[in-house]
Amino acid sequence: MLNYGKQHISDNDIAAVVQVLKSPYLTQGPVVPLFEQAICQLTQAQFGIAVNSATSALHIACLSLGLQQGDSVWTSPISFVASANCALYCGASIDFIDIDPQTCNLSIPLLTHKLAQAKKTNCLPKIIIAVHLAGHSCDMQALHQLSKKYHFHIIEDAAHALGGYYRNKPIGNGEFSTISVFSFHPVKSITSGEGGMAVCNDKKLADKMALLRNHGITRDIRLITSQQQNACYYEQLNLGFNYRMSDLHAALGLSQLQQLKHFIKQREKIVAYYNEQLSTLPITLPRNHPDNHSSHHLYIIRLHRQHNQKNIIQQCHAQGIGVNIHYIPIHLQPYYQRLGFKHGDFPNAENYYQKAITLPLYPTLSRDEQDTIINTLKTLLK
Ligand SMILES: *Cc1c(COP(=O)(O)O)cnc(C)c1O
Repeated sequence: MLNYGKQHISDNDIAAVVQVLKSPYLTQGPVVPLFEQAICQLTQAQFGIAVNSATSALHIACLSLGLQQGDSVWTSPISFVASANCALYCGASIDFIDIDPQTCNLSIPLLTHKLAQAKKTNCLPKIIIAVHLAGHSCDMQALHQLSKKYHFHIIEDAAHALGGYYRNKPIGNGEFSTISVFSFHPVKSITSGEGGMAVCNDKKLADKMALLRNHGITRDIRLITSQQQNACYYEQLNLGFNYRMSDLHAALGLSQLQQLKHFIKQREKIVAYYNEQLSTLPITLPRNHPDNHSSHHLYIIRLHRQHNQKNIIQQCHAQGIGVNIHYIPIHLQPYYQRLGFKHGDFPNAENYYQKAITLPLYPTLSRDEQDTIINTLKTLLK
């Protein structure tokens, strides 16, 4: 089966992990900070907090901004459930902003309208989580302007977007947001096995997140409250978690990072070939705004009315082509329905979900494999 995504692990990656295995530290050694620095260098952010997943990063990002019961978070319904779950972990409530049918990211006009309504009823969000679907950045400048007017924080869920650019600056640089979050799950731009990172330019937020990732425990002399410290002394200052990344994972991530540019180049070539070969079919191809230089995490086509998504997916799977859907709208998940969300709440997202199909896209997808996918689609959609 040609999966929709697949990691590529080099001999150098393996050697980097083996080196840690032979070292004194499997976790909390020297490699995690090196990986953090390398991601900061790439994204031009000042501080990086490596954790065991992007989900954990989203959680501590929300907590560091003081999110709690009584607050609300808004995000796009077309994302992985983690983009919304993080609000609920903090006891806050969640709501969604319907997507723009063109970009498939959260709609700025719909958000503008929703904010104006929310201001009247005094229920503005504390945080908006902007998801860069497929690696194509949201309209961050517009979002940033709204955040000034309505006083909310922006977290970029950049799980798809490591190595991408918005207005010629790397995603994660923080010009238009408070915190950005990356994932190193094997289907993403680079992998650490499991892993994630929050980046920001605010030392206080970075310190808070670093504390929350490690049980709320510190050994930092400047933070410790007691006078009677000894060399073994530590204090728990907050209720934190064990969200630490291990040196094994960081070594893989750091080594993978050396190949990120190459990976994205390969993805670009594959996307260009899809765009060329599929242009005559009655489908909507993914379109990238000229402000964006996408990381090309996903290649999502949208079917037109005459084609049945379920049939097409079934036939692709029968022929070994592991197409997928990104995503089932979060508000349609049974858990979210129990929270009160209903079919019809976000019609653009629901319509998108009926039409979207993710084609295989990963750096080692060969031209032959791509031709098989393209020819299958041409037969099915002719
Ligand atoms: C993958 C993903 C996450 C979660 O990442 P993990 O590292 O697996 O926790 C969050 N948001 C989006 C948009 C994702 O695609």
